[in-house]
Amino acid sequence: MGCQRIANIDARLWVGAKMTLRTQLDDALRRVRDLEQEVAQLKEQSKPRIDIPPHWLIQASKQALGRTGKWNDCYNVLTTYYGIPRVRNLVDDSKIPKGADGVYYQNEKTVYGKQGGMSTWIAMHEFAHHLCAHLMPIGGEAEQAFCNSFATEMEKNWT
Ligand SMILES: [Zn+2]
Repeated sequence: MGCQRIANIDARLWVGAKMTLRTQLDDALRRVRDLEQEVAQLKEQSKPRIDIPPHWLIQASKQALGRTGKWNDCYNVLTTYYGIPRVRNLVDDSKIPKGADGVYYQNEKTVYGKQGGMSTWIAMHEFAHHLCAHLMPIGGEAEQAFCNSFATEMEKNWT
């Protein structure tokens, strides 16, 4: 008789304990998921990225170009803004691959353009390679894609 009552109490305690364990497990799993999300966010935030300069700075770099007609002067404004070493622009058709209108040599920190000048888009595309070399080494297709979109954004802000 006493034993039956104890058995009932045991069963109720067991059910209660199981529910408590399940709740704790759910809680722990939720916390793990939250942590995983936080880690993913931090990873995303710590990825190197290069933002387009503010409009006024792009205008200042354009004015520097306008004063002398030399891309070097435009580049100096931009490299100062980004806090990276200077890059120079030289004209030398023989350095430029067939089919291209400009080229960047990382080891020479130089953008080569053709006689007759570079378009803004080309000048900014090649400059973006210099940015990548110092701030966001990605290389390959991804770098080309970044340089293309950088040039397009800069061109949009050119006027
Ligand atoms: Zn390129």
